[in-house]
Amino acid sequence: MIERRRLRVTGTVQGVGFRPFVFRLATGLGLAGQVSNDHLGVLIEVEGPDSALDILSTRLVAEAPPLALVVSVESGQVRPTGETGFAIVDSRSQGAPAVAVSVDAATCAECLSELHDPTNRRFGYPFINCTNCGPRYTIIQSIPYDRAATTMAGFDMCARCGAEYTNPADRRFHAEPIACADCGPRLTLLDSGGGELATESEALGRAISALLAGQILAIKGLGGYHLAADATNTEAVTELRRRKSRDQKPFAVMVPGLESAGELCLLTSAAEAALASPRRPIVLAPRHHDQILAAGVAPGLPELGLMLPYTPLHSLVMAGLGRPLVLTSGNQSDEPIAHDDADALSRLGPMVDAIVSHDRPIHIRCDDSVVRARPGEGSVQMVRRSRGYAPEPINLTRPAGRHVLAVGAELKNTVAVAKGATIVASHHIGDLEHLAAYQSFLQAVGHLCRLTGVRPAMVVHDLHPEYLSTKFAMDLEIPALGVQHHHAHIASCLAEHGSDARVLGVAFDGTGMGTDGTIWGGEFLVADLDGFTRVGHLTGVPMIGGNHAVREPWRMAMAWVHAACGYDEAAHYGSEIDHRWSAVLDRIASPSSLITTSAGRLFDAVAALIGLRSTASYEAQAAIELEAAAVKEPLTSGDGYEVVLRNDNQGCLELDPSPLVRTVMADQRTGTASAVIAARFHEGLGLGVAQAAVVLADAHGLDTVALSGGVFQNARLSAIVETDIAKQGLRVLVHSHIPPNDGGISIGQAAIAARLS
Ligand code: ZN
Ligand code: ZN
Ligand code: FE
Repeated sequence: MIERRRLRVTGTVQGVGFRPFVFRLATGLGLAGQVSNDHLGVLIEVEGPDSALDILSTRLVAEAPPLALVVSVESGQVRPTGETGFAIVDSRSQGAPAVAVSVDAATCAECLSELHDPTNRRFGYPFINCTNCGPRYTIIQSIPYDRAATTMAGFDMCARCGAEYTNPADRRFHAEPIACADCGPRLTLLDSGGGELATESEALGRAISALLAGQILAIKGLGGYHLAADATNTEAVTELRRRKSRDQKPFAVMVPGLESAGELCLLTSAAEAALASPRRPIVLAPRHHDQILAAGVAPGLPELGLMLPYTPLHSLVMAGLGRPLVLTSGNQSDEPIAHDDADALSRLGPMVDAIVSHDRPIHIRCDDSVVRARPGEGSVQMVRRSRGYAPEPINLTRPAGRHVLAVGAELKNTVAVAKGATIVASHHIGDLEHLAAYQSFLQAVGHLCRLTGVRPAMVVHDLHPEYLSTKFAMDLEIPALGVQHHHAHIASCLAEHGSDARVLGVAFDGTGMGTDGTIWGGEFLVADLDGFTRVGHLTGVPMIGGNHAVREPWRMAMAWVHAACGYDEAAHYGSEIDHRWSAVLDRIASPSSLITTSAGRLFDAVAALIGLRSTASYEAQAAIELEAAAVKEPLTSGDGYEVVLRNDNQGCLELDPSPLVRTVMADQRTGTASAVIAARFHEGLGLGVAQAAVVLADAHGLDTVALSGGVFQNARLSAIVETDIAKQGLRVLVHSHIPPNDGGISIGQAAIAARLS
């Protein structure tokens, strides 16, 4: 029987080759009709035998193009028109946009083989792309997604590109960033003052030679500029570290392919899959001992951050180089990645010997994403969700009551919107204490709302009144909702799992404003998306000096020694560590000091106590090194340090690590290896956390525990807690796709606010 159906497809379906895919499918089935993009997604009208129409509906989802993400297909009957032939018709722009913008995707295999094929007309062209790959989020200014709405608008297609673009049978049919050497962006090599040194293949050749000679270059990538240096050249890496800043953050390394990645790191199959996926994140994985990298790449850490080339320019550079390349975001400390050409020249020019640039503007900056390979089995955990992942939608279990804007926290900031049944989170914005990051935050809010068609009817923010994101939210003249930091962490974990259940949430992190005026960070909450009750916490100790306590872990060590062993021991420890000890101890002993239950700060304290680090150059450095110290010790050995569970006087369970702190000190005094102390610390704390979670879940009739907060980036602690809770028959929710750290806060905030009607 002949029918005509109207199919409405929603999700990430524009800019990913969906219309030509529908065209090929429909014509292959002998169906008539048309397909178009509009503000809701893709609209198909198709006419023919009902059996063929059914097949089309199934294959529409099952065989969708690699970058497409179909959220729903709604089908309705309309009156047959007797139409013959199938056509792709022009985009219609009306109403508020609801369609998801595609993520940026690494060069696909077909484009790569063309890139390296001397007979292909795009041989060696650094901006080759097609409907299955290339820039998207970073070049789109508004939607519907058309070339005119991207930073490719200024390039007029040549006749040959035009023919591919308009041919439905071509892989580049409506590939909006389509380009070739005749009509598209052009590579340039600039000196550090912006003067042009060379263009096109000469620019590439000279850039490769400069890197091989140990020079430091800035390279314009997909979402911003990287600083680059030969990762095997000790002098070049040392010089890069000197020029960039004094901090000790590890550098990421780009390798030519999976084989060289395997020479540097131990890769699980999940790590390999993540490395090679079109999202191309930086993958943190354990490094082999003997390797060719300069020591300064990731000093003192047992892991390396690796990535594979994700633009054709990277592929050409890596093919010419044939060795690992340090690629680190081109900025000092925690400022946002430089993406604007003039800004990059002024900020990076003084740090580099030359700049590899081009004339395709980056509309929105987007840092590299970072995932961490979990030990043993096959999964990775998101650490920074940005390029290749943003702005992919996250599904809600029930549609948002209104348009919501969530502004996140202060560190590792992201923003998110909720609309309909989805949340869309931005790229990584950074630490808002930097002015440049705050400006980037403002841009991101505007950009995200424009791309998603969100006109916020509510803004949701952290409870911390001093966060710039909170202040921004308060200044908007729309209803504002404050969400407690650790509730947002647990909500982000629920959102990731598509759950709206009530769970026992364990939120362990560095810092978050509590509802009682203290700084929380070691919290047990009975929580769902509608609310929470605090039912347990780590013992509180004074946190002296605010941010100084984060940068100087010895202050937290003093506070913990004071809590566990008393004033005299604390004085003894302090007098050996820093000349400001007595002023700090006075304040620790004062009843009016600010109290924190932060688990992150406990890690800092223990790292300082065993002499790993008494001052930190970046947040959580001491905690990261404490985990690293334990790396060669078995996960559990039965001799974890003791922690105590008791009821505090407010009806909460208190997890008290005082005995643990005392044993750490005793072991340290008798010369126990720091690796062993670090391992016993992880085991003791992990089992204590698990026990507290099980006791509390039981007391509140809950069968699921959710783990969130930056401390759960610690793979060792996570593994101990997860395994032990699961052993006792409870379900454990952990993060894979949303960061456990504050990068996930905006998503949790949005999920909570979306519940309000
Ligand atoms: Zn391609
Ligand atoms: Zn062309
Ligand atoms: Fe947090």
